[in-house]
Order: sequence, then C-alpha cells, then structure tokens
Amino acid sequence: MQPVYTIFGNHKDRGREDFSHFTGEDYVNEVMNARLAPPEGLAAPLSIMWELTSKCKNRCIYCYNDSSPDRLEQLSDKRMLSLANEIIEMKPFNICLTGGEPTENSHYLDLMLLFASYGLKVSTILSGANLNSKYINIISKCVDTLQISLDGSCPEIHDSVRGRKGSFDEAINAIREFVEKGIDVRVSFASTSRNIDDFKNTYDLCKELRVTSLRTQRLARVGRAKSKTGFSFYPSEEQIDNLEKFLYENAKVRNPMIEYAEPYLHLTTGMDVGITTLARITSSGDVGISPYLEAYFGNVNEEPFQQIWNRMKKGWHNSQMYEIASKVAMDLDNMESPLEEKVYIR
Ligand code: SF4
Repeated sequence: MQPVYTIFGNHKDRGREDFSHFTGEDYVNEVMNARLAPPEGLAAPLSIMWELTSKCKNRCIYCYNDSSPDRLEQLSDKRMLSLANEIIEMKPFNICLTGGEPTENSHYLDLMLLFASYGLKVSTILSGANLNSKYINIISKCVDTLQISLDGSCPEIHDSVRGRKGSFDEAINAIREFVEKGIDVRVSFASTSRNIDDFKNTYDLCKELRVTSLRTQRLARVGRAKSKTGFSFYPSEEQIDNLEKFLYENAKVRNPMIEYAEPYLHLTTGMDVGITTLARITSSGDVGISPYLEAYFGNVNEEPFQQIWNRMKKGWHNSQMYEIASKVAMDLDNMESPLEEKVYIR
C-alpha cells in the first residue's frame, strides 16, 4: 500500500519540501481512497472520540475544545450509561475516551472497563493529572494505545504552555509508569510559539522515556486557539521552517518515530469520498464529524446516537458541511477561524 500523506499545509505551493514520508500508513484512509467502503456509508463509526468532560486542571493556551478548571459540562449519569450501551451495540472498532481531562469524570474507569469487556479497542488521552496506582493498573489492563501530551522538555516550558505548575512532573511520571507497564505510550506535542524551538529537546526526552512516537501538528483554529490571544501563540514562519528542517533530517528515526500531521487533512479525504468514519461526542452531547470543526449533526440529549449517525454517515457530502470543509481545506494558511459560532447541520 502507498502511504497516505499527511503534510503540514500545502508545502508545494509554499515552495517547501514534501514531508509526506514522515508518517506511516493510515489504513482507514486507504480503504476510503480505494473506494472499498459501502457507497451508502457505514452502519456505525469505525472510531468514536468521546469527550467525557470539559473539566481539566490545566488551561492549555491552545486547547481545541476550550477545557479548563471552570468548565463542568458532562452528560448525566443516566445518559452516559445509556450512550455507552448504544455504542456497544453499534460495535465500532475503537473508542477514545478523552476530555477535558477524562479522569475528572468519576465514571471514567467504569466506562473503560465496560468497553474493554465488550472487546472494543480502547484508547485514551491523558495529561497525567489525577493518576494513582488504581488508575494506572486499570488503564494499563484496558487500553490499546495511550496518548499523553508533553509540550516541552522542562517544567518552565511545558507548564507555561499548559497553564499550571506541576503539570510537567505529572506528565513525566505518567509516561514512566505506563512505559514501565509495557504500554504503547504516544506523546503529542502542540507546536506553539512558546515551545516549538524546544521540539528537539522534547524528542531527546521522549527517547530517554522510551515512548513509541512523538507527534506534532500545526495548531487547529478552534477552541482557545481561535481567540485573539490564541492567534498570538501561532509559531512564526521561521520557527516552522526550523522545525521542518529538524524533521526532514530525522525523517527515518524510529525510536521514537516522529509523526508530523496536518490537522485538516481528513477534510479533503472526507470531501472526496463523502463517507464518515469518525464520530466525535462532546461533553455536552453534540455529535460531530471532526474534532476541529464545530459543526454538529445533532445532540445525544435529544435523540439516540444511532439516529444521529444515520444522518451523518455520508456527512462530508452534506451541502452545508461540504461548504464549511471546503472553506477550511482551500485556505490552510488563513489564520482566521473557519467558524465563529458552532453550527448545527440538520
Ligand atoms: S490538558 Fe488537554 S483538555 Fe486540558 S486544557 Fe490542555 S489541551 Fe485542553
């Protein structure tokens, strides 16, 4: 199979190198591009991303869904349980439990155990906060992959990006504990003006910590990163050029592997094939097609998830969604936010 290319914007137009060889194969996209998916769309999502809460101890300068200690949105206990049962019946391949900080939701471990017991591949995204031996043991038993965010090689840089002292130590301790248990730990690094120059040091630290991969990408223009203050954290062209030079020189490293992604690439694939593979459920129950577009096909507080999915399974070819996605995909270097307010597609 040819690798699917994930690149950092439109390099050829910008006179830059093609960085396509930095990333591995994406089998879902391969299937879609090869037109192997049923033309009427999939009966259920292949992958579900469930944001269990908007609460998070951190206040990262770029947070894509604006999570913070002051945000408390999450579904009622009753709806969480019924939604979990709906998801199990739909039989997706993978469910990613995320947030906010998902461990702020008191049902996090129970949901993880439940999904794992039904054979779903479970992944989760953590900051490193709130972990103790009970959490580490259960998560280690249940997860297929685990992502922990690390936004710098030292507390001064990481904590300044994450908005909280002590967050660096939590992330490092969590990585060490999970690696020690043999878990496939992937690290994500958000490239902002504050930390992008520290990417190489962070890579060296990840190597020492024995993580599987280190991933970075351009900031998506959503959540806090779409505010005026958020814009000021975008790296300069010079900083991006320096990062790309490092990536180019280290394209073949594997321990850990570096992944360099374009956050909006899935839009072009989606617009091309029309069929939806991922469902994102936000902490307030909105169901979307992409983590980076605040455009939703419904809310699980108003109707069953399957009913929403039936409407969105060919959602990329919905005329309203197509228009939104085209606007973003055609102008990747535009710093303006694609959507000022969230949009419901009916
Ligand atoms: S740790 Fe994650 S969820 Fe929390 S504020 Fe940062 S990016 Fe958002």
